[in-house]
Amino acid sequence: MRYEGTVYRPPSEANSLLIQATIGCPHNKCTFCKMYKRTKFRIRPVADIKEDLLTARDYYGDLVQTIFFPDGNTIVMKTDQLAEILNYARELFPFLKRMTVYGSAKILKLKKPEELRLLKEAGLTRIHSGMESGDDEVLSRILKGFTASEMIEEGLKVREAGIELSEYILIGIGGRERTREHALESARVLNAFTPDFVRLRTFIPYNGTPLADDIQQGRFQMLSPHEALKETRLLITHLEGPFELLSDHFSNFAWVNGRIPEDKSTILETLDQLLEIPEKEFRKADSHYL
Ligand code: SF4
Repeated sequence: MRYEGTVYRPPSEANSLLIQATIGCPHNKCTFCKMYKRTKFRIRPVADIKEDLLTARDYYGDLVQTIFFPDGNTIVMKTDQLAEILNYARELFPFLKRMTVYGSAKILKLKKPEELRLLKEAGLTRIHSGMESGDDEVLSRILKGFTASEMIEEGLKVREAGIELSEYILIGIGGRERTREHALESARVLNAFTPDFVRLRTFIPYNGTPLADDIQQGRFQMLSPHEALKETRLLITHLEGPFELLSDHFSNFAWVNGRIPEDKSTILETLDQLLEIPEKEFRKADSHYL
């Protein structure tokens, strides 16, 4: 297998075989993200991807059960080419249970419903999608490239194709100014298309990104730990589901996981308990990268 640059994958793909199908991100504009800032986007030739899959089969044997195809927005590949590598992977690994890619609503808009159904038939099980917020003002400020209504439309399209959707929400990405709208609108949008998984991350600024500059210039106020917990609480209070809620990331101040709506009251109780802990006991909100 050949890898180029830093290879990012969701924590839930920690045990998956990683085969790069794209290099970089075709959007590459989000103001908080630095993952692929220095990388010129390209799609790898199908022959190279298949060669890497074959190398992986020779190296690990045919018992691989899950594959994730980095980098950012691999769903952008031509549908027949992505289907070709998915079908080839199924031939090589007869025990495969899951194949996944990243795909944001901006890129999903390019796919027709029948193309998504074809990818599902080829073995695409799940799409990891960074929605970050359901608030149009926040989405516009962070340059996500789609609106809340487009997110709902694309989310429903993926679900109707029978592909699982894992949606990522970024606590604190609206700053102090939009915390309430960010929480309420994100809940409304998630309830409208009910992804299979809602995964929480908390915004941490990365050096060199436009949003980190805004913080340093005083144009964006980050949430304190208690404010982030309160935003999380407001979001969860308004979630109806049904979906699985996970906070499987080091950035979060709260480790809250469960089914919505079944586990909602327990999760809210946990958040109330965390809010009784003095703020100085939590990590500093911007302690990691600034
Ligand atoms: S779409 Fe994802 S990978 Fe691309 S710039 Fe935005 S957050 Fe980063």
